[in-house]
Amino acid sequence: MAFKERTESDELKLFRSLNNRMVLPSKEKKIYLYLEKGYKGEVIFDQLTERLDANKFLILNDLRMETNSTNFQIDTSIISQEIFFPCEVKNYEGDYYYKSDQFYAMNDTEIQNPLDQIKRSDTLLRQKLHKKRYPLPIKSNVFFVNPAFTLYQAPLEKPIIYPTQLTRFFEELNSKPSILNYNHYKLAEYLTKEHKTFSPYTRLPPYNYEHLKKGPSCVSCFSLSVIAAETKLICRACGCVEKVEDGILRCVRELQLLFPNKKITTNLVFEWCKVIESRKQLRRILKKHYKTIGTRHFTYYIIKE
Ligand SMILES: [Zn+2]
Repeated sequence: MAFKERTESDELKLFRSLNNRMVLPSKEKKIYLYLEKGYKGEVIFDQLTERLDANKFLILNDLRMETNSTNFQIDTSIISQEIFFPCEVKNYEGDYYYKSDQFYAMNDTEIQNPLDQIKRSDTLLRQKLHKKRYPLPIKSNVFFVNPAFTLYQAPLEKPIIYPTQLTRFFEELNSKPSILNYNHYKLAEYLTKEHKTFSPYTRLPPYNYEHLKKGPSCVSCFSLSVIAAETKLICRACGCVEKVEDGILRCVRELQLLFPNKKITTNLVFEWCKVIESRKQLRRILKKHYKTIGTRHFTYYIIKE
């Protein structure tokens, strides 16, 4: 099990929700698809790091940190006895080529060079570790996890691990001796504490409550073709079944994420959940999981402490 687990970022959740409930402008749609694909790649990568011996390696997934007022992010960090391995995970698909230190898609559009990305985060990470006197050497790699990825003309000496090399890379790493001590755990704790969950979502398009499509989304395929049947929510797109209670709580969390300033009232959730027929059932669930503020018509709910 990872020392720090990966969770979907709020930005991805917000984009997913908006994509589901409105027509995203093309630029934002691209950002959304890129985020979704990137996350899928990271999940594939996590399946590989999970196979590493937990007594020999500490895995920290998704660290967003700051040093000297500059933000940087590391998809996965592997701490071993002798080396700190930051991993940049890419889920690129299709054919690319490398020319004059740049990456290009086959249609000649230049894409961000992940090698520059790791160079930058290496420098910032090194500064951060240096400040705290953690002298572990850093060895970064870019991991391409999509089996349908090809890169032509890449120089051999670059720190790139290709899809066909992933299994071998982790097998070799796992076979090396590594003894962790108190300092390694202290470092992992320090970095986990330094992780910033908050990020301003400047890339989101403008949106408002009135124009968003309502109704619970499917827990599995995100479709809004969800119907309520007594104590269950059933997705007509993929057949997934969820307990009404779980579905409603998910709806409330989505509402809070989209509209952090809105008061959560029974009426609001009733309108947002749309397919739930009984206000009474809804009120009972909200009362059970949230703290009630105010009385009668003025009641709203906040998270229990
Ligand atoms: Zn579904």
